[in-house]
Amino acid sequence: MPRLSHCIGTDPAHRKEWGVSDVTGGDLCLALDFGGTKLAAGIVDWRSGHVIQQARCRTGEASGAEGQIADMLELVDGLLAAMPQGVRLTGAGVSFGGPVEAATGTVLQSHHVPGWDGLPLASRLSHRLGLPVLVENDANAVALGELLYGAGRGAVDLVYMTISTGIGGGVILGGELWRGHRGLAGEVGHMVVRPDGPLCTCGNYGCLEALASGLSIARRAREALASGAGSELLALAEGDPQSITAELVFRAARGGDEVAQSVIAAVATDLGLGIAMLCSILDPARVILGGGVAKAGEQLLAPVRESFRRHAFPMLVDRVEIVRAAAIDEGGLLGAAALVARAAARDRTCQMHVGIP
Ligand SMILES: [Zn+2]
Repeated sequence: MPRLSHCIGTDPAHRKEWGVSDVTGGDLCLALDFGGTKLAAGIVDWRSGHVIQQARCRTGEASGAEGQIADMLELVDGLLAAMPQGVRLTGAGVSFGGPVEAATGTVLQSHHVPGWDGLPLASRLSHRLGLPVLVENDANAVALGELLYGAGRGAVDLVYMTISTGIGGGVILGGELWRGHRGLAGEVGHMVVRPDGPLCTCGNYGCLEALASGLSIARRAREALASGAGSELLALAEGDPQSITAELVFRAARGGDEVAQSVIAAVATDLGLGIAMLCSILDPARVILGGGVAKAGEQLLAPVRESFRRHAFPMLVDRVEIVRAAAIDEGGLLGAAALVARAAARDRTCQMHVGIP
């Protein structure tokens, strides 16, 4: 069968030699991360969260679901071929960028790539790989990964919020993922924090995503420039307002640019307000911010904490930790591994069943 698509720009930078401790470590799993246009596969020690091998590629949106699956299997085959003989895998975890039905491992929808709706991903991969496969929405998986291996260790109740192109989230209550009645829990990006705010991709106005996602940060900066404010931002974007990104806004703010600083202050205010609302309802020990925008670190976290303190229920003000995710680029792989770890912990004999998280 001819390939339906091919990986664009496969990244060999993560390849390394297998070490002796990797082989004897036991307890390894396959971890797969299906992003909108990025795929990653890894072999991970699910007890420690140590990523032993990984391979990544970009994939065209036009390749559709079948093309993405073919691309992912190409990455996986490369990893398995390089694996020393005698190494066994416990199972495979999949972090998927869209809503899924975790109980059956079925993708409900992809916002970015056609052909995914209703696709039984767990059974497809399980049949091909000969392994039990668990599938979870990416923000949920990463929340679990942070709980087991990252910034959530030691917490029982936490909220994970990913701030990148959009804003998503995962909620852990009592040490377990809280999916909600329809699997839609944790859609923190669509809390309306400013009813008179801008239109969101979901059709409502003033959602957190429409105010504080990476795309929204860039849009707010463009709006500030259009109002005539002088700024270094345009020069950083080489004169093209459409080239302004959240990363450039943070960079300009670090350089003292007042427009960029005021955009970040406004964004942090909205994030802190949203987090205060979440904390009033859930009373988590920790709120973890991940996604590309969280790479700004304290430049974002410090004003977010300040806004949280202004808006939070007074008994919570000094009691909720707001921290950066431990794994941002590898979050999806660790989240996928965490699914296997959870399933293995539930079934001490590691006889996981396909599709049962
Ligand atoms: Zn929305």
